[in-house]
Amino acid sequence: FRYAPRLAHDVVSAGIEMGYPPTSDLNGETGTGFTIAQTYNDGGSRYSTARAYLRPASKRENLHILLNAVGSRVIVDPVTKKVTGVEYIKNGEKKIVGVNKEAVLSGGTLNSPQILLLSGIGPKETLDKLNIPVVKELPGVGQNLHNHVGVNLEFTLTKEPDVPELSWESAMEYMLKRQGPLSATGMSQLSGKINSRLAAGGGRHPDVQYFFNGYGSSCGDGSLGDADAIVDENNKRTITISAIALQPRSRGYLTLESTNPLQPPVMQPNYFLDEHELDVLVDASRIAYRLANTTILREKYGMQPTEGYGAECPGGGPNPTDEFFRCLAQLHTAPENHQVGTCKMGAADDPMAVVDPQLRVYGINGLRVADASIMPTVVSGNTAAPVVMIAERAAEFVIIKYQELLRTQFGEDTVPDGIFSGSNEGWNSNESGNKPIWVDNWKPWDKHWDNPEWKYDHPYHRKNNVNQPAYNSR
Ligand SMILES: Cc1cc2nc3c(=O)[nH]c(=O)nc-3n(C[C@H](O)[C@H](O)[C@H](O)COP(=O)(O)OP(=O)(O)OC[C@H]3O[C@@H](n4cnc5c(N)ncnc54)[C@H](O)[C@@H]3O)c2cc1C
Repeated sequence: FRYAPRLAHDVVSAGIEMGYPPTSDLNGETGTGFTIAQTYNDGGSRYSTARAYLRPASKRENLHILLNAVGSRVIVDPVTKKVTGVEYIKNGEKKIVGVNKEAVLSGGTLNSPQILLLSGIGPKETLDKLNIPVVKELPGVGQNLHNHVGVNLEFTLTKEPDVPELSWESAMEYMLKRQGPLSATGMSQLSGKINSRLAAGGGRHPDVQYFFNGYGSSCGDGSLGDADAIVDENNKRTITISAIALQPRSRGYLTLESTNPLQPPVMQPNYFLDEHELDVLVDASRIAYRLANTTILREKYGMQPTEGYGAECPGGGPNPTDEFFRCLAQLHTAPENHQVGTCKMGAADDPMAVVDPQLRVYGINGLRVADASIMPTVVSGNTAAPVVMIAERAAEFVIIKYQELLRTQFGEDTVPDGIFSGSNEGWNSNESGNKPIWVDNWKPWDKHWDNPEWKYDHPYHRKNNVNQPAYNSR
């Protein structure tokens, strides 16, 4: 971020006061400590994967992007189990795209399993209940749903804080230089990871993350920075610390109530089914209270738990009990947006696995899933970057597969340069010399990417007319 309020830096200092060293890389080797988090950001604006990946590639001849269409099912030949098409709905009409090679589902943790179920791939019981013909019984589809879950803790700043003024000056600063308060997200850019007393030994996998919110600007659009919402009735500013359990043991599920693809699936998250999360959150809440009571936050901001917050819970007050914090977690539950696991990756002998280590759906030819749903266990942190990694790996798997096909059919010299040279054999091996070599000239994240190497001018492509969009609507 190009801007951070003073309070964000002071919270990092408060962490140091408590003995948590700051970290500059939450995704790095030592992710413990408080920091201003990394972000997808370009020129002071939030960046999305659509902007980073899709837009630069949108002019490619072999890419067709269909807007305002809902994928409804994958069509699988009942005998060969090969994917032959993908059905979608646009303007109320059902259409089918033919599939020559393979389809990749990336509907996310809630929608990829929905599409699999609608395609007859999933637990037999669910499919039978909805009269969907069973194409492949896979009991794991929609199961193993889990998410980071936490508690919102509210604090009041009883001393006058230095809230950034959203004035004409700051508006001009953003418009002209893409800097200043408008180029950042206030306290929500701050994060911290620590080990609760229940964390696994070694301290390398923190089991608690803190997110911060509030302390917004003094004008707003009625949403996050709403002026009325950022001060309490005494005209004091409040901030929320969300303490999140990063290694949840509770598991929920996702299922369908209808065969209508436009009807959302039903999600049962089962938060706190396992007491472990509550135990972690008791510890995490106590640490957040101690953070608020550090010299810097107490003296400079007069930070203290908001009076009356959680009054419904017994055991509050100056020395809150464990029961108070357990109650608070259930009253002010803070589920994250990090749902995973509903098409989990696993070994062939795991009956609940949906995809194999190359993201291929078990028992179906020509179908992969590439999104957060394949994570067997949620990562101990934010999920967006790991999902990008999953997508990058999926792209590599597909490219390697068709490079091999080219080699087999047309010989070594027909394989285009780029991506990888070398064989896919031993991809997971640690033995040196047996890995594909990354050719560092292909940068999908480069906004102006247009690699002439990939014009599809190769014997295989010419023979199969691959330069034409592989898109048959019927
Ligand atoms: C409000 C919010 C804030 C978040 N903030 C952060 C953050 O700050 N940092 C972080 O690391 N993570 C964050 N996350 C989590 C992160 O965004 C997700 O983990 C990640 O986007 C998951 O990627 P995905 O590809 O699995 O699914 P998605 O990003 O959900 O992508 C699935 C796509 O498929 C489309 N789709 C679904 N069904 C169909 C269908 N039937 N037909 C056609 N298209 C379909 C959807 O519209 C969507 O575009 C946040 C999530 C939310 C919801």
